[in-house]
This record gives sequence, C-alpha cells and structure tokens, in this order.
Amino acid sequence: MQTEKLWQSILGDIEISLSKANYLTWFKNTHLLKLSDGSATIAVSNIFIKQQLEKKYDALIKETLQKNGVMVNTVEYIVKSPTSKQPAETTFDPLEQISSSYTTGHQLQTAPTPTNSRSTLTHPYRQGINERYTFENFIVGSANELAYAACQAIAAMPGEKYNPLFLYGGVGIGKTHLIQAVGNAVLTDRPGSRVVYATSEQFVQEFVDALRFKKNTAFADHYRSADVLIVDDVQFLAGKEKIQEEFFHTFNALHQANKQIILSSDKPPGEIPTLEERLRSRFVWGMSIDMQNPDFETRCAILQTKAESKGITLPTDVVEYLATNIQTNIRELEGALNQLIAFCEMRALEPNIAITTGLLGATKSRPKHLSAKQIIERCAKHYHVSIEDLLSPKRDKDIVGPRQVAMYLLRSELHLSFPKIAHELGRKDHTTAIHSVDKIEKDIQLNADTRTNIQEIKEWLYA
Ligand code: ADP
Ligand code: MG
Repeated sequence: MQTEKLWQSILGDIEISLSKANYLTWFKNTHLLKLSDGSATIAVSNIFIKQQLEKKYDALIKETLQKNGVMVNTVEYIVKSPTSKQPAETTFDPLEQISSSYTTGHQLQTAPTPTNSRSTLTHPYRQGINERYTFENFIVGSANELAYAACQAIAAMPGEKYNPLFLYGGVGIGKTHLIQAVGNAVLTDRPGSRVVYATSEQFVQEFVDALRFKKNTAFADHYRSADVLIVDDVQFLAGKEKIQEEFFHTFNALHQANKQIILSSDKPPGEIPTLEERLRSRFVWGMSIDMQNPDFETRCAILQTKAESKGITLPTDVVEYLATNIQTNIRELEGALNQLIAFCEMRALEPNIAITTGLLGATKSRPKHLSAKQIIERCAKHYHVSIEDLLSPKRDKDIVGPRQVAMYLLRSELHLSFPKIAHELGRKDHTTAIHSVDKIEKDIQLNADTRTNIQEIKEWLYA
C-alpha cells in the first residue's frame, strides 16, 4: 500500500532523529491510515502514545512528512488496537517490551476514575501506599518518560512483561511516586490483588522483629503472598547478609510464580556496595531504568500542577524563578513551593516574584560540604542545649524538640537515610528518625515559630 510505504520511509527518518528507546516506545507500532485534504491520520496502539505524539512529536511528524513531499496542516492520532495478537517474544529486549506491551489490546486507563468508585482506601493490602501518588498527577518529561511508560505497562499486566523492574536515580526525582502509582493502579483495576509495598528499611525492621518475636513464617508469608511486591530504596539492603538471604528467597518465590517485583534504588544494581552477587544478577533480570532529574519545562509543569491542586495559580515569573533556582530535585522544588504557599496564606498575600525571591534567596547557593556534625552543632547552639544532651537518651521536652529539628535537617539538607540519621544522634531505632522528620515536616506547615527557627538555622549553615 502506498501510504504504508510512505510511512515506512517517514519512520526511517524519525528513527535517526530520536534515541532508539524513544523511537521504539512512541513510534514502533504506528501506522499511517489516511492522507487527504492536507490532513494525515495516524493509528497508534493506546491513548498514552496518542497523547505523547500530540504533545511532543507533532511538529517532528509534520516536518518529516513535508520532507517526504507530503504537505499536511493537521495530523490526527487515533487509537486503534492491532487486529492480530503479537507472537510471543523469544528474545528479550526490554525497551521493545515497553512498546509491545501496548500492542496486546490492553486498554490503558485514560481519565482518572472518580475517586468514590475506587473505594480503595480500605483495601486490606494498601499498606504503605499513598493514594496521592497516581499516574494522573505524575508529569511526564524526557527525564522520566521511559520509567513512566514501563510502570504503566506493568500496571496494565503485572508479572507478565518484564520482571523485576528496577528504577534508579537520585533522591526526590519521583521514584517512589511512580512505583506507588503502579500499586494504586493495580489496586484500582484489580481490587482482589495483593500489592505489598515496603521500603527496604521497613523490610529489614520487620525481618528483625520477626526473628525476635519468632514470627518468621508470618513475615515470609506476608511478602511471599504478594501479587505485586514493591520494595523502595533497596540500597539499604547493602551489607546486611541475613536480610539479603531472606530477600533472595522472597524474590525467587515471587519470580517463579510470575508475580511482579518492582524495586527502586538511588544507584544501579552494579553500584550498590556489598550486595550479594546472586541478588545483583537477579535485579537486572528484567528491566533497569535510569531516572533523571526533570528538565526545566517539566519542573515548570510540575510546579503549576502542584499549585493548581492547592487551588493556587502561580504567576509565570514565579514558576520560572523556582524552576531555574531549584534544580536539585522535585522534592526540594515542592518544598520551596509549599514554603511559599504557607508564607502567603498566613499573610493573605498572593504569591509574587518579590516574595519568592525574598523567601528563597537564602536557599539558592548552598555549599556542598555541609556535614552532619555542623548541623547538630548548629541546632544545639540555636536552641541553647548542649550537644551531649542532644545525643543523650534524655526525653525532656526542650531537648526532644531540637533533636527532632536536627534529624529533620539531616534529612532535608544531607538526604541521609533514616538509620544513618538515628546513628548520628546516638539512636538505635531508626523509627524515631522517621517519626521526627515527619513531625517537623508537619510543624513547618502549621507553626510559624518552627518555620522561623529552621530558616534561621539554615541561613546560618549556608551563610
Ligand atoms: P524519590 O522516591 O525519587 O526520592 P519521590 O517519588 O518521593 O522521589 O518524589 C518527591 C516528590 O516529588 C513527591 O512529592 C512526588 O510527588 C514529586 N514528584 C517527583 N516527580 C514528579 C513528577 N514527574 N510529577 C509530579 N510530581 C513529581
Ligand atoms: Mg523514594
């Protein structure tokens, strides 16, 4: 057919102008259906691809058509499931699997289902999964589109395509959000399924408790009965032999039963120190995807969406100022936005560029060499308590508060793990650190004194 031939030649051009991964994900299963009156109709296999083509590749497609002698003013994208089912894959090409997973006629979720019909809040297996983390409110850009596509494909067919999925990248760039979105989508689409989410720190803690209270079987049953097991931040399994062994058995049991396993880490499997070889090799059995810090446009889109979800429209210069000056990660970007919103709400002001620069100027140029010791010393000084008291088991109110602030700052400024934070403050139990960071995060929203104190400590630290 003429159009098919033409399309093949256009795809050939597009293929050389894109990365292989992008080409396979977005273009592999597209077809030119019709050309008439300056308009082209392209068939794609699902709504997600349609949206991406419309949003990101429309210009490229028109341009390439033109280069091949076809002038079109408009391109229409329609979703059309292929008529024949793909033969089973024999070779393993993870990226190909992303796109082929879209071609089996499975309909991806298009619009958010009304929350009341989800009724997932009381789901018995919604442990640790935050309902806030969904695909719908995750902004896709070039830094995370592959991870997003892979997660969508998994949510559509858990355990079927590639297993495990291993997402890695720096802190605060959306790993937890995405992998929990898979959990939420699976629970919505398949209400009977068991989605078990745990951070690896939780896994470790529960394992230790299970040994202590002789509940090993219950522990193993809990994890091994999952349909989808999501373990976040697996780098914390490093150096823990017994736990790695337990995790190895859990992994095998689930994998053999074709249950989906999703893992995240701050580094690729090969770079996690003291990770047993047998685990390392299993972690790369399926697909590993590197997630990057979102680019400027994506950061702007995230800010707008987050602000809008709180009923606030931010002026463009504010959005651009934030997105330019906070490039580290999305968590910090969100933190700055929350700070700005809280500040304005307390004073009944509309956010503007003057307030934003005033408020965030201090956080702009942070030195890289801040240490845990400096933070603890500064907190002690600021609250007029001794360092010994901060590090002691004392539970007096005027010591607990500053200690919690110190823990919060170790997390927000140095991104230390909870066990490390606990260790820095002479604590054995890292749940205290989790609780403290959580408490201060809430306090910052509610309490102007806490906000001022933390701002002052930070200003001093970064002065
Ligand atoms: P990580 O697990 O990689 O450290 P998180 O998933 O906790 O990061 O993300 C930090 C915050 O940034 C979360 O509140 C998350 O909702 C938000 N976030 C990150 N990436 C995106 C994105 N692409 N779209 C919307 N929100 C995002
Ligand atoms: Mg995370």
